[in-house]
Amino acid sequence: MDKYIVTIAPPTPNGDMHLGHLSGPFLAADVFTRMRRLKNDDVFFTSYSDDHQDYVASKALENKEIRFEWALKYGSRIENSLKKANIKVDWFLKSCENKYYKEAILFLLQNAIEKNGIGEKQIRVPYSFEDNQYGYEAFAKGTCNYCGSESDASQCESCANYPVLEEMGDFISIISKKPMGFVNKERMFLKISKYKDHLKELYKQNPIREHLRTFIDEVLSNENIEWFIDRPDGNGIDLTFQGKKITLHTWFSGLAGYLAASKEYWESVKQPQRHEEFWKDKNTKVVNFLGFDCSFSHAIVYPSLASNIDGFTQNFTQITNKFLKLNGDDFSTSRSHAIWVDDILEDYSSDGVRFYMALISPEEEVTNFEMKAFTDWYQNVFSPTINLIEEKINTTKTCLRFSKDEYDELELNKIDEIFSKWDFFSELQAFSIQNIAKRLEDFLQYIAELFSSGQNEKAMRASFIYVVLSKPIHPSFSERLIDKLLINENEIMDWLNSRKYSQATVKK
Ligand SMILES: [Zn+2]
Repeated sequence: MDKYIVTIAPPTPNGDMHLGHLSGPFLAADVFTRMRRLKNDDVFFTSYSDDHQDYVASKALENKEIRFEWALKYGSRIENSLKKANIKVDWFLKSCENKYYKEAILFLLQNAIEKNGIGEKQIRVPYSFEDNQYGYEAFAKGTCNYCGSESDASQCESCANYPVLEEMGDFISIISKKPMGFVNKERMFLKISKYKDHLKELYKQNPIREHLRTFIDEVLSNENIEWFIDRPDGNGIDLTFQGKKITLHTWFSGLAGYLAASKEYWESVKQPQRHEEFWKDKNTKVVNFLGFDCSFSHAIVYPSLASNIDGFTQNFTQITNKFLKLNGDDFSTSRSHAIWVDDILEDYSSDGVRFYMALISPEEEVTNFEMKAFTDWYQNVFSPTINLIEEKINTTKTCLRFSKDEYDELELNKIDEIFSKWDFFSELQAFSIQNIAKRLEDFLQYIAELFSSGQNEKAMRASFIYVVLSKPIHPSFSERLIDKLLINENEIMDWLNSRKYSQATVKK
């Protein structure tokens, strides 16, 4: 049994959840967690609401609302959408005024200082004299000095770099649209260069996707990397450190969010020792799911911060995804060019939405969602097949029990073929919900054909395997049938694994 801490990059509570969010880290992390649990691994699965994000402040200001009230309102709505989509985190922390969160941030800062990882210097920061507003992130925009795309002042969504503010083009305030000015401020920075060797060593073995590897190589090829962690007079987490008031931003505080969520959860279920059992075991794998634009914080900063803490797991892996488009255009909350998770789940089952989103998941490439393609698939492929299987199982008169001795050679070949691929893509090294979903779609079609041609017993036997393997992708349907058929998942998984093992031995 292996230990995993699975995290989803914290959503910003400044609006409702749309399909673009779901298609990325949320669904993949949930499927991964369910996969691990099906394989009897010990998993803690978490995310939290990023209440101190600059975009919450800008959105609240735009709507004449109070910043943290806005965060709490949308944090709860996001948590609700996750539940409806069957994304079952163990704990969804609300970071606003959360003592665990503040403690964890100070803990990470303190450890970084003790290991000489933090420096201080005076630099110029963007300030709009027109609007009396600092432009650290959401309140300023321009063109990225690295890739030329439009970017905010903190981090470019296209290339994931931190723009050099004074080199950005058309750098303006989002309020007055007037050019940003600059003022001097004393700021703290993380000496990323100090952690280069640690990071290089980590990513030698780490199974990360190619676009992330390229990004990390590029970042680490820089001579001197100073990453500013505070925002004097800006929005972030206000703290008192060594008698001094400081404001740290939320990109620095992500690892703290995961730590805080873990501590708060395990205390709430009266097993506080489990928190340390996870984090202080060097074999625990921390697997972060995130959009590519959060790569710098997750792949560079958090492993660096963890390396300052003696006795902590250092085993960090990130699973990144690209973006989903809607009818060929970017999802946009402000332009209302989006499909909201709550809306689509009014009309379609979470099982069907999850399955389809897995099939088109933007893992390595940008992918596109079109409502017509989805409804065609839902009405012509997914629904009829799933309903047929459930109906046949519900109406069959014979007593159905899984028995490994009843499968013939041809059925076993099909099962072994599906399982070997399913198993390969369920492991961290090659994890891919798109590939898992494709295999399941094939398998589903195979079962439907058996039923349609009257081979009911064969179809039933295949269904025993299908409902277990498909549980991480569409849990509601699978759980219903697992109960109905009195299936022992462990028995089936053990059998599939033993077949895989014996086949590998035969091949040798
Ligand atoms: Zn860029």
